[in-house]
Amino acid sequence: MTARGAQRLVDRPWRDVGRPVVLVPLGSTEQHGPHLPLDTDTTVASLVCEALAARLRTDGDDVVVAPPIAYGASGEHEAFPGTISIGTQALTFLLMEFGRSASAWADRIIFVNGHGGNVEALAAAMPVLIDEERAAAWLPCVPDRAGLDERIGRLDAHAGRSETSIMLAHDAARVRVDRLEQGNPDPLRELMPRLRDAGTRAVSPNGVLGDPRAATAAEGELLLDAIVAGAWSRLRTGRPDERGCLVAGSPDDAADEPVGA
Ligand SMILES: [Zn+2]
Repeated sequence: MTARGAQRLVDRPWRDVGRPVVLVPLGSTEQHGPHLPLDTDTTVASLVCEALAARLRTDGDDVVVAPPIAYGASGEHEAFPGTISIGTQALTFLLMEFGRSASAWADRIIFVNGHGGNVEALAAAMPVLIDEERAAAWLPCVPDRAGLDERIGRLDAHAGRSETSIMLAHDAARVRVDRLEQGNPDPLRELMPRLRDAGTRAVSPNGVLGDPRAATAAEGELLLDAIVAGAWSRLRTGRPDERGCLVAGSPDDAADEPVGA
């Protein structure tokens, strides 16, 4: 592969950078139950970026994937070792300064978010960048649900069946399958008030929201394909809403929780 064609931003010497679309994986470093690695959200966001970049290239666009932002707002997981949260305020400034710097040469900057806790910072930072007439927006790692529900189980929120399936599909060696434990199975919307007040540990001592025991690599592949399909339609046809989130089709989709809350 020539430097000009390099898919990773950092592989290009400066004369080869050009004016590409820049995809930025935005993840977290936080506990994902007894069985998943701390960078699960960053991994999912990176996989989605790579798949989107491949599709854009097929369409003839120049696109690069930036190094991931591996720290986010994960205060709800701070009672678990390994979690490193920079909080919403710091993340908001990071996103604004990232966008200001990269927009000097990038054609467009798209943050691809793998962690629900980052949404508040994205929703604060993107409108500022857009007001400054910078071409920046974000999109969540939410599956396109068309035709998906019959084939896979209910999407769960954190370190459960959904995320575990994706990690099994991507890199099974990083999943401790000897440690799959059920967590709190209640829907995230019901858990949210206590989760916000007292943190994840108060609602789930093992850190799992959902149940990873039925996870399979096959389901992970379907799920990842559906996330990429959703992201693709936002990227290709979406317009930023008031939070700077690209919305394609029904505006209700934007309110969905991403896989990887
Ligand atoms: Zn996650």
